[in-house]
Amino acid sequence: MSLSLIDLRESALLAPYAFYSRDSAGREYAEPEHAYRGPFQRDRDRIVHSAAFRRLNGKMQVFTGAMGDYHRTRLTHTMEVASIARTIGRTLRLNEDLIESLALLHDIGHPPFGHAGEDTLAELLEAEGGFSHNRFALTLVREIEHPYPTFPGLNLTYEVLQSQDTRADKQHSSPLLEAQVVDAADSITYDAHDVDDAVKLKLITLEELSQLPLIARCLDRVEQKHLASGAKLTADFLRKSLVHELIEVQVSDLVERSQQILLSPACINAQEAKEAGIRLTHNSELQTEKSKLEAFLYQQVYRHPDIVRVRLKAQNRLRELFQAYCNDPALLPAHFRVRIDKIGLRQTAGDYIAGMTDHYCLEQSNRLSGKAP
Ligand code: MG
Repeated sequence: MSLSLIDLRESALLAPYAFYSRDSAGREYAEPEHAYRGPFQRDRDRIVHSAAFRRLNGKMQVFTGAMGDYHRTRLTHTMEVASIARTIGRTLRLNEDLIESLALLHDIGHPPFGHAGEDTLAELLEAEGGFSHNRFALTLVREIEHPYPTFPGLNLTYEVLQSQDTRADKQHSSPLLEAQVVDAADSITYDAHDVDDAVKLKLITLEELSQLPLIARCLDRVEQKHLASGAKLTADFLRKSLVHELIEVQVSDLVERSQQILLSPACINAQEAKEAGIRLTHNSELQTEKSKLEAFLYQQVYRHPDIVRVRLKAQNRLRELFQAYCNDPALLPAHFRVRIDKIGLRQTAGDYIAGMTDHYCLEQSNRLSGKAP
């Protein structure tokens, strides 16, 4: 009953190459369909209601909470990705429910302290096969989250799990178009908001940025618009307007290029698009400009001395905490200790740490080392 209503809606709105809910391979543990929510709507809701999703609020994106409260957290980054991905998906007439689920899931496996945390866990768990936030997202939603009494995990659809698995292992297979949109939206989002946050935090200036072709192009557009409106732009509004343009230019470019890709030759359905290895991309000119911006952000922002200091501190805290749990497994909570027999002590300690927020990680590290908070 419900699936036919969803199908009616999707048949009216989606392009032939979109992934239709009726084609879902279902869930690992069979469940009856919901009366009025489609399978990907249910996935989205399960992700939003998970503890791991709430913890994104306490996980840093690039800048820590100690650096102010303007910049993005891992949660607000995720919400921006979902919003931008939905816009692109709606324009391309793809399955927005699937896109939203994938976007909300995409960073759920990030450990505390961003990439510093990820690199440290990868090093600590080297003998266990390393650590990847993309893979840990699957561990969280398939094993660690436990909202239902009859099975472990969130029991997400095969398509959502498979898409996340493809993120974790790029060679694995060709991703669904909906998953590609989320990947592209992730990159569009962080390129735009890292510029905003880094300028606001005075790590870089608009003048330095204006040497980059993508920024110059966007600043030009800002100037044209504001000349036309006659409004006087303060430095603050110039930064904000630049960020709007950065999103607009990238999204428009991706949509235009993707429309060309999807028309020639015409994709008949999602399976064909997947088998043909269709890749939604930016125009090569914009891709080159994006790479230059990303190289600049890497050098001037992600490797800025203030960020490197945070990185070193986080690495030390994570190493100490990991060692403490390995030396005394009784310090681990009971629902993690039961995993030791199955996956080993080191992996269990790593998984427990990976799920922590930045604040909780610091608090535990202070408590176990007897350091003052
Ligand atoms: Mg992301």
